[in-house]
Amino acid sequence: MSYDEHYVKSVVRSIPDWPEPGILFRDITPIFQDPRASRMVANAFIDRYMQMDITHIACIDARGFLFGAIIAHQLNKPLILVRKKGKLPGETIHQDYTLEYGTASVEIQKDAVTAGDKVVLIDDLIATGGTALAACTLINGLGASVVEVAALIDLPDLNGSQKIQDTGVPVY
Ligand code: AMP
Repeated sequence: MSYDEHYVKSVVRSIPDWPEPGILFRDITPIFQDPRASRMVANAFIDRYMQMDITHIACIDARGFLFGAIIAHQLNKPLILVRKKGKLPGETIHQDYTLEYGTASVEIQKDAVTAGDKVVLIDDLIATGGTALAACTLINGLGASVVEVAALIDLPDLNGSQKIQDTGVPVY
């Protein structure tokens, strides 16, 4: 089944003024209610990362987990979780950042990755890029490197993917 961008776009639901006035929220939950769409999306990432020299899949709380878990499972790679602050037990490091709507902090367990690991970081959507950049900072802070940041949806008007690329990390 090849990736049909038009079809996948038609499945994503756009909700104006949620969670705050002025935000057009791109709701990906219908993708997971549509096995054809979810399979198409997962396969696009799996095909790409099957060819690459990577050691780990990292994914961002919470919708990134949906994609990350499928991809890591299919590629037989370890999955690491970048979570909202306060959710992970054990020793962690956190990074604060600004979001399209508000501020937040993400966290990772200190033993999630180690020096030399090559990580693909997955989320559902890149808006300002703040979340992904904070996640990259955490992964890099543990000595690993982010080989690529990947998301289903980019909001290029908010310039986030450009900001990530400006740090030398490719965005897919
Ligand atoms: P950012 O850090 O600004 O790139 O925001 C990306 C994160 O916030 C992702 O985890 C998205 O799930 C969420 N997000 C930001 N803006 C939107 C939007 N317009 N629609 C859906 N999710 C969004």
